[in-house]
Amino acid sequence: MTGEPKIIAGNWKMHKTLVEGQSFLDEFLPLIGGCGEGDAAIILAPNFTLLSAFASRCQDVGIGLAAQNCHTETAGAFTGETSVGMLTAIGVTHVLVGHSERRALFAEDDALLHRKVQTVMEAGLVPIFCVGETLAERQEQQHQAVVERQLQCGLAGLAGHRLLVAYEPVWAIGTGKTATVGDAQEMHSFIRRVLDSCFEGSGRIPILYGGSVKPDNAAQLMSQPDVDGVLVGGASLVAADFARIVAAAGAR
Ligand code: PEP
Repeated sequence: MTGEPKIIAGNWKMHKTLVEGQSFLDEFLPLIGGCGEGDAAIILAPNFTLLSAFASRCQDVGIGLAAQNCHTETAGAFTGETSVGMLTAIGVTHVLVGHSERRALFAEDDALLHRKVQTVMEAGLVPIFCVGETLAERQEQQHQAVVERQLQCGLAGLAGHRLLVAYEPVWAIGTGKTATVGDAQEMHSFIRRVLDSCFEGSGRIPILYGGSVKPDNAAQLMSQPDVDGVLVGGASLVAADFARIVAAAGAR
């Protein structure tokens, strides 16, 4: 292994029932052996209905457990919503905030996401804060400005808490198109400079790349100096594929 373990996070979105999720773990856990402690730190983000059942199995093998969303308030009349207290009570460790699907399909804006990040941090959970530009924004050479705005608005004044950032170019999510390693490294190094200026003295905040990460491109992406891990959608649903991505953390 070279340096810190790479962080390999799987976002299952609205896929897998409880039974399907348990079968995944039955297949996946033997494939990764002791990977939770070596080259890779693994985080799984299954649907809410699986979190309780996954908590002890994940904790036993050192896998982090992420919720895909939470509410900004800690309790109240918010039908259909889930509070951070409910998540900590069942053993959740991380929360995805600002995924492009939440931004685009559920109208989550910078101000709301800032409140979510703050709520997550105050509960002692670790936000996985997602940023990324659309294809049109990249074509207009606005990608850095967009990502900088997302970081500055979403994270303003929140230094001093644990945080993961995921760079997920929207045009690469679920499309089979991946950023080139050069483009990924360039953006990650830009994000690191923005984070260093907002969070002076906070140490190295891990930055994950997401967007059509597959077993065949994971090692190359993670070989880049500012790519601290990957956030994986589609390929995290298949135990053998996700295990190969975990193994790629050791092959860099
Ligand atoms: C995601 O949804 O976070 C993601 C990166 O999806 P995919 O790997 O399928 O592109």
